[in-house]
Order: sequence, then C-alpha cells, then structure tokens
Amino acid sequence: MQGKLNVQTENIFPVIKKFLYSDHEIFLRELISNAVDATQKIKTLATRGDCQGELGDLTIDVKIDEKKKTLTVSDRGIGMTADEVERYINQIAFSGVTDFMEKYNDNHEQLIGHFGLGFYSAFMVSDKVEIFTKSWKEEPAQHWSCDGSPEFTMNEDKNHADRGTDIVLHIADDCKEFLEESTVLQLLKKYCRFMPVSIRFGEESIWVDSETECDKDGNPKRVEKKQPRIVNDPDPAWKKSPASLADEDYKKFYHELFPMNFEEPLFQIHLNVDFPFNLTGILYFPKVRKTIDPNRNKIQLYCNQVFVTDQVDGIVPDYLMLLHGVLDSPDIPLNVSRSYLQSDSNVKKISQHISKKVADKLEEMSKKKEGEERSALEEKWDDIKIFVQYGMLTDEKFCERAMKFYLVKGVDGSYYTLDSYRERIKPLQTDKDKIVCYLYASDVENEHSYIEKAKAKGYDVLLMDSPLESHFINLLEQKIEKTRFVRVDSDTVENLIPHDDAIPEKLNKEEQERLKPIIEGEVDKQKFTVQLESLEENDAPIQVTQSEFMRRYREMAQTSGGGMGFYGDMPENYNLVVNINHPLIGRVLVETDVEKQKDLVNQLTDLALLANGLLKGEALSRFLQRSVAMI
Ligand code: ADP
Repeated sequence: MQGKLNVQTENIFPVIKKFLYSDHEIFLRELISNAVDATQKIKTLATRGDCQGELGDLTIDVKIDEKKKTLTVSDRGIGMTADEVERYINQIAFSGVTDFMEKYNDNHEQLIGHFGLGFYSAFMVSDKVEIFTKSWKEEPAQHWSCDGSPEFTMNEDKNHADRGTDIVLHIADDCKEFLEESTVLQLLKKYCRFMPVSIRFGEESIWVDSETECDKDGNPKRVEKKQPRIVNDPDPAWKKSPASLADEDYKKFYHELFPMNFEEPLFQIHLNVDFPFNLTGILYFPKVRKTIDPNRNKIQLYCNQVFVTDQVDGIVPDYLMLLHGVLDSPDIPLNVSRSYLQSDSNVKKISQHISKKVADKLEEMSKKKEGEERSALEEKWDDIKIFVQYGMLTDEKFCERAMKFYLVKGVDGSYYTLDSYRERIKPLQTDKDKIVCYLYASDVENEHSYIEKAKAKGYDVLLMDSPLESHFINLLEQKIEKTRFVRVDSDTVENLIPHDDAIPEKLNKEEQERLKPIIEGEVDKQKFTVQLESLEENDAPIQVTQSEFMRRYREMAQTSGGGMGFYGDMPENYNLVVNINHPLIGRVLVETDVEKQKDLVNQLTDLALLANGLLKGEALSRFLQRSVAMI
C-alpha cells in the first residue's frame, strides 16, 4: 500500500528539520517515551487479564549499526495493527498548521508539544524512517516506511513474528553523531536515566571471580566480563514511599544524581503529593557557606520519569534554586517553552507547594526533641542560614513563616529565635526613644575591641556575617517594629544605644572650638569627619567609627549590582571621635610647642586607626618612628 500523509502542508519535514535544528537530539527521548508507553500499556493489559500468556523480557533495546547507518529503538510493548498505524501515524492531527507555524515561529519546542509530533521528530535526524510493528492482538505485523516526503509505504510484514515495535532510523549524513556510541549513551543518560522501563544499550565491563583460573594463593582470579549495559534506573528513590527509605538511601540517590558532587547533602525533603496536583521529588539541602553557587542547574524536572529540563529558573522560586534534586510531575507540560511554564497555573501551584513544604520542614527541625541539647535546625544553621535569608528576602510568604524559626547567633556561638532574643536584650538595649537596639559584628577579629567595649557595658553582640546580611538587616528592621540594628564599630559605645544620661563635659564651648581645628589640621578631611564627644574619662582619647547607614548602603550596593550605584560609588568615610573628657585631649589643648602638639594629635589618631586595622604603609612607618622618638 502507498499513501500520502494527511498533513496540510506538503513540506512538513523540512520545516521540522529546520525549526528544531538546535534541539534535534530530543528525537531519542520522544521515541523511547513511546516505547515506554507501549510497554506500560501491555503491562496494564496483562494485569487486567485482557492479554494472556507470558509477556517475556520487556527491556527496550537501542542499537546502532554503523555500516547500515541505522539507529533502532525496539520495544516489546503493545505494538500497532495496520489500522492503528493508519490512525496514529498516518493521519497526523494537524489543523491549520500554517497558522500555528507562524504563531510559534520562535517557539519551536512548544510547537512540537502542541501537535504531538513526538514520533515525527525522528525525521529531524533521518533520511528515512521505518516501523516494524506487531500488535498484541491476533493481527499481521506491519512494515511502514517513509523517506521524509509526505509519501509512505505500508505492507504486511511476514518476518516480524514477535509482539512489539522496532523503529529504524536511517540517519542522515549531517547527523552522523547519532551513530556514535558515546553520543547516544550521553543522550540516553540525559533524557532516559530514570525512565520506568529498563533500557539496554551496548555492553559494559564488570569484574568477576573466574570460574576456571586461580591466583597463586588459590583464590579465584578477577576477570573482566562483558554484559549488556542497562542505562537507566527504572525505580528511582523519589518514586518510592518515604517510609521505605533510610537516610543512607537518600544520600546514595544524591550521589547517583550528582556523581560529581562529593559533599554530602545536609538533609532532604521528599515530596509526595497527589492532590490537587501530582508531584513527587526529592529536594536536597546542600551546604551553602559564604558564596552562592553560580552553577544553579541542580534541580532536574521530570514528567513521569522522563527528563524535561534542568533549567528551572522561574519555575521554582529563586531561593529554592539553591537546592539540589528532582521534581517529577505529569502536570508539568513536557514540550513547552520556559516562558510558558512560568505562566502555567499548575506550575505556579507546584512552586508554592514546594515553598510551603520547605518552611514546614525547617519549622519541624526547629523543634527541640526531648533529651537533645540543640534542635536539628540549630545544628545545621550555619550551613543553611544564607538560604533561609535568601528565601525571606525574596518570598513574602516564606518570610512570614520563617520569622518564627529564624535563628540569630551571638558572637559567643549561642543561638536564639528572633522573639526570644528580643526579650533577652530589651532591658538593657532599649534606647531613650523606646527603640530596641540590636548590636552586631561582621567580623569577630576585626571588631574585637568594639565587641569587648559593648560587652563590658553588659550589651549582647550578634555575629552577622553572611554576604546577604546588609539586605537582611534592612528586612528585619521593616518586619520587627521599633527595632534598629547597629554594628558595634558604628559609634562610640555610649552612642550605640543612646540613653538619657549625658556625661558632664570637661571642656567648655570656647575650648572645644579651639580644639577642633587643631585636630582637623592633622587629618585627611576627605576621609575623616572630626566629631567631639563627651565620653567616659577612661574611654579611648580618639576612636574611629563608621556610620551604620552609609556602610550598610555601600555594602548593599555592592551585593545588589546596579540600582544603588550612588551609594556604591561613595568614598569610604569615617568619623574621628574625640573624647573631650580624656586627660590626653586636655593636654593637646594646653600644649604650647606647636610641633609637640602636632605629634601628640598624630600619635593619638594613629593609635585609633591602628585599632581598626586602618594604619598601613607609609603612615604606619611614620607612626613607628614617631613612637620611638617619643619614648
Ligand atoms: P504521542 O506519543 O504524543 O501521542 P507520537 O507521534 O509520538 O505522539 O505517537 C503517536 C501514537 O503512535 C502514540 O500515541 C501511540 O499510540 C502510537 N505509537 C507510537 N510509538 C509507538 C510504539 N513504539 N508502540 C506502540 N504504539 C506507538
């Protein structure tokens, strides 16, 4: 029999070839998906008792023949009768194809999904495609052949005795890579790694005990043996019930998914929903320390165990992209573009669901189990903090949930929830305007002297050192009423938390007016603003501080890139706080020898800079020389 394919455009095949050029490797996924479907259908028929007798080995075979230039996909599924080939293959359900072609001109993936062109994607890489198929029903086998023009032939095939379908692709000259074992293996690993029916391709070596040869100790020799290679794991962990899996199983699966990731994941969430949508998957929390992994394609999206994509931007919330793992949902359309996925309501619901599950898991971990000193969340906190911060900054709903379990950490290493920490610091750290002041340090080493001064006053100091911290602090100031965050070095300890009790001034107004220019004369005014303050007599004579506001906005500008350029471009500016109650400052004022006066001011300023690690290079050498001379 000869016939013409029922497509409305004469030249559909060149179009397929051209449009899908960049993505033509998906033909293999399409053909194997069809083989898997056919296999699962025969299994269903058998369990229902519709199909009697042994099903036999249902493994799908992929073979390449370099001489004949063919690639063959064979299954032992339900097969097709002549009538079914006519219906499913010959009459492709195209309606108004030309319109659609125009509409999806730059959206080819969507085009293919739309028309169920699955099988026809074989023509992207072939000059000719043949189908040998025998239905499970008592009907003769068929041989169908088409060379890429809309004409095809179909005849009875007396040689094909077994149930099932062979699809034979005569690979085109410009697609020779699909005749190479390594290319095909790589594609099978990419798209078919977890398909639910075993797929056999080529051979692999294993090492076994020899049955005939022994080594000199009489033990069987290890010998290499070839065996057929199964390329997929048809029963991946995410499809199993969570109750049947131990922590070890999850870890093993993690390494199966990411063989190049050697670090263990921290913990995982096993998703298993069947209402109102269907979703399974496992999401692993990796260690995220100081930096956010720029290589974020670590979530793979599957549709019934068929790989769809690992580009999930916009499909899962941004902060969840830091997670690693798999998501599988038949409700995620297989063949559509990402912009389409992002607007798909199922995909949105799935994304919200995942976000909720993540919050549930973290909340559960924050509850201390009986007899345990620390909650699971506390134990893992340093490794996941940045992830929680990122989530809170980018997802309003997640933020609301996380405010309850978010942990702050003191410089001494103890953890508190936000609520309990506020209660803890309220008595001493509420300022004269009833604002609760949270003191923090970004670096325990660098800010050591400031931390000590704050502690000496009975204040508590938090360690806030993530790269997102400045943004996060802003968020907390918005979320928690009557709250202010100040870094310990942003002011003198008295002024960090202003109370009403002013310290009496030892220098009068006139003396202060004389003092200021003396000090200003010795410092770089671009960089330092001189500020006279009435501090405790035993506080340092001069201190260097940096305004919380300016510093934080600078940092935010640096980590957000664009939009806040103004702050990022500001030169670094410090305050030089002069303690007018300190005896040495008094001495500066009464010193009559101008040189000696200058030396004294420089010495005191340099000491303050030294305490902040700001004294370097030539200035440091001058300080050392001056110190020796003064001794
Ligand atoms: P889709 O798979 O999206 O329905 P295809 O063009 O890939 O579109 O396939 C069309 C139909 O042809 C399938 O729905 C199925 O009925 C039939 N078919 C394709 N491949 C096979 C196969 N290997 N075994 C049995 N039937 C098949």
